[in-house]
Amino acid sequence: MSIDSEQHTSVVRSDWAPVDERRLFLGEGARFLETGVSPVSEAEQPGTAQHPFVLVDIMDGTLYSTSAEPGSGLTLQGSVDEPLGAVAPVRQHSSAPDGRWVAALGTGLALLERSATGELQVIQALGEPAADRSSVPLRMNDAVADPHGRFWAGAMAYDGDAGQGFLLRLDPDGSIHIVLEDLAIPNGPAFSADGATMYLSDTPTGWIRRYRVDIATGALDAGEDFIHISEGGPDGMTVDAEDCLWSAVWGGSCLHRYSPSGELLERIDVPVRQPTSIALSAAPPYRVMVTSATQHLEEPIDHDGRVITAEVSVAGRPAVSWRPSSQQEPQANWAGNLTYSSARLERPRSIDELARLVAESEQVKALGSRHSFSSVADTTGTLIELTAMPRVFTLDAEAGTVTFDAATRYGDLAAALQAEGWALPNMASLPHITVAGSVATGTHGSGDRNPPLASSVRSLDMVLADGSLRTFRRGDADFDGAVVSLGALGVVTTLTLDVIPSFEVRQDIYEGVSWDGVLENFEELTGSAYSVSLFTRWAGEDFGLVWMKSTQEPPAEVLGVTARREDIGLAGGPPEFATEQGGRWGSWDQRLPHFRLDFTPSNGDELQTEYLLPRENAVEGLRRMRALSAEIEPLLLVSEIRTMAADEQWMSGASGRETVGFHFTWLQREGEVAALLPRLEEQLLPLGARPHWGKRFATTDIASFYPRVDDFTRLVKELDPTGTFRNAFLNDLLFGAESGESRG
Ligand SMILES: Cc1cc2nc3c(=O)[nH]c(=O)nc-3n(C[C@H](O)[C@H](O)[C@H](O)COP(=O)(O)OP(=O)(O)OC[C@H]3O[C@@H](n4cnc5c(N)ncnc54)[C@H](O)[C@@H]3O)c2cc1C
Repeated sequence: MSIDSEQHTSVVRSDWAPVDERRLFLGEGARFLETGVSPVSEAEQPGTAQHPFVLVDIMDGTLYSTSAEPGSGLTLQGSVDEPLGAVAPVRQHSSAPDGRWVAALGTGLALLERSATGELQVIQALGEPAADRSSVPLRMNDAVADPHGRFWAGAMAYDGDAGQGFLLRLDPDGSIHIVLEDLAIPNGPAFSADGATMYLSDTPTGWIRRYRVDIATGALDAGEDFIHISEGGPDGMTVDAEDCLWSAVWGGSCLHRYSPSGELLERIDVPVRQPTSIALSAAPPYRVMVTSATQHLEEPIDHDGRVITAEVSVAGRPAVSWRPSSQQEPQANWAGNLTYSSARLERPRSIDELARLVAESEQVKALGSRHSFSSVADTTGTLIELTAMPRVFTLDAEAGTVTFDAATRYGDLAAALQAEGWALPNMASLPHITVAGSVATGTHGSGDRNPPLASSVRSLDMVLADGSLRTFRRGDADFDGAVVSLGALGVVTTLTLDVIPSFEVRQDIYEGVSWDGVLENFEELTGSAYSVSLFTRWAGEDFGLVWMKSTQEPPAEVLGVTARREDIGLAGGPPEFATEQGGRWGSWDQRLPHFRLDFTPSNGDELQTEYLLPRENAVEGLRRMRALSAEIEPLLLVSEIRTMAADEQWMSGASGRETVGFHFTWLQREGEVAALLPRLEEQLLPLGARPHWGKRFATTDIASFYPRVDDFTRLVKELDPTGTFRNAFLNDLLFGAESGESRG
């Protein structure tokens, strides 16, 4: 059926233009990803904020992202050694973006992740159903996740032999099922919004078939012919927000758009002979992006092989994620150095459900974004993530507060506040961590006048062990014990923080300062900007660098060194992972964290340790660590020295004293780091060092470092008499002989 162009206005509203000049051999897998604005968004993948579109060049094994604006270019997200058919985001097992993809790769399925150095790595093979299946070699082709969290992928013979191809389904439990066989080149699985209809094209046959999907099990019915295309072959597909199906017609230089009943609504000419896949943006500005191929073309002409784009009047839907079920999820912390002892992970959807769950469980621990390296969040009972709870964000300009739900990450909160002209006074280095988890462990940023982050908490609501809800407000008798709670008192559901008017910050890096200069001028140095961090590797005469976050013009010179004008990144990682440096002013949310929210700073391949010293002992502490540099350096990625003002929180590292944090990011060599820590502690504990609760340390004898520790243990016993929220970590460190368990 053809379209009378007099009667129908095209949904394409501009000329086609290339996104990039390069021609791909076999561009495919175009997808639009939802941006990481919401902590519960489907696709918080690196780069989505600016680059919501992704695509692959199959035979090169490359993954690209792009904004899909004309001429904006393709950004390489990484490449692998095998054909890469398509990817889908993996739904996060926590609210933090971990940047994982599920991929149709080589002869099977795999999980991919972008490493700290920007390479795309296979982190887990999920199965190789296309290996040794046929007498001819096969490879994976197009693939997509459906709205119910399953991943569907086609396999084909390299030369497209009829009958060799098949379609498989990866279920949330990790099982792989071959669901259709005897295909040639299966392409573009595409789903209706409710996931109950699947369209599949088999390109050389000209057919697009339609299947009913059993939403509960993923089973397909026998299917029916939907459309036959005779001029060219139907390749990649997508379903738009009006439930209309788009098909890229390989060899037909066009796209087709069909109504759900199969009426051809429009034939859209494109300046490429072999269009291969289509993605439509789900948010304005509405664009269509089409990939194409030069494969089999003797001489590419026009935009053959290029990724092309145009404005459209119809929205798409964001690509959904493969959602591994909780049994399948790696129950590990972000760094992977700790596998939680729990066999059960729950995501309650309401406060009532949460309260019931807590009251019914013998042992419970709330999880934030799993960024702690210690076992502070571990339990043998039920782990509870709050990512499915109702979202809360209420700004009270008159009171100068913001109230939000406990799954909220600092970076998301910061962006939402900045949009309204408000700010937080300080942030930690990483914006991906939850506020609830951070304040529970005494997390801090830097600055002589900036206390740890818990100081901004004005009140919090908590579900206690008996299922009751309690609000702790600043000024209440036990409030100072309830914020840095180590998760020992209950499950925090909402927090209210003080906010201040938005402000601008710039970051300047002074590289090459001397050890003598730092030791002699420590007091002055840490006070010379809003927030100052010193980075060192301890060895040699060169201390390292000073990283200043300033709200006023910073000093032109620091210890005889002038500021670098270019971005240098952090600890050898790519500069684009770090927030902008080079003295460029920007809003506080874009400068206070070291890492950018839309980049995953690393794959977690590290360990961290931090000791919080009373300020008066900091210089002596530096000298002592420097003396151990030969032992420290081989295991060290980088060390950071930060200062913080005193606070009143009973269990805070800065409780009652001005503090300097000695932070160590280690290579992930668990045994060697564990062996070294007592050596560090021999030197630092006598200086009054308190270990950071969320990081690795060795000592168990720390209770005496906290003057209010007895108040805290009293509060724990009062609110949680049966020890629902206790774990080996707490028993070991705070309840000693009363418990018998050890933190291991
Ligand atoms: C790359 C990286 C950078 C870091 N940078 C800094 C930094 O700059 N400064 C710093 O001080 N620390 C830093 N940390 C440490 C980090 O801030 C802490 O480990 C923090 O606790 C992580 O928060 P989370 O949401 O991941 O909490 P989790 O590790 O998930 O949990 C930590 C604790 O909080 C409790 N908890 C979480 N949510 C709740 C809730 N809703 N109710 C009750 N209890 C809860 C848990 O039970 C557990 O006891 C960094 C860690 C990493 C991995």
